Amino acid sequence: MTSAATKSRVEDKLYQNRYLVDSGRPHIKVRPHQKPSANLLALTHVCPAKCYELNDKGQVEITADGCMECGTCQILCGTTGEIEWNYPRGGFGILFKFG
Ligand code: SF4
Repeated sequence: MTSAATKSRVEDKLYQNRYLVDSGRPHIKVRPHQKPSANLLALTHVCPAKCYELNDKGQVEITADGCMECGTCQILCGTTGEIEWNYPRGGFGILFKFG
């Protein structure tokens, strides 16, 4: 049995990952829009890295730094053309630490 002092939360484990930013070359882009679709809006809730946010105009923006490449946003909006999704270039992006 694990004591409360040694239990790890998901956030604690995620904090151990590292991210190498490819400056000026975001690997995910949101297509310009006036009003977000329901799926695009949902990204502000479902992205585990909280990369998607609403700006003061009610439009969805992304800051891809910290993306865990889980593919959730690609499933929701990749086929609709609302986002352009690519893996980061080699050597950039998330560096997972397991354990
Ligand atoms: Fe967020 Fe996953 Fe999309 Fe990255 S791939 S932006 S972590 S939903």
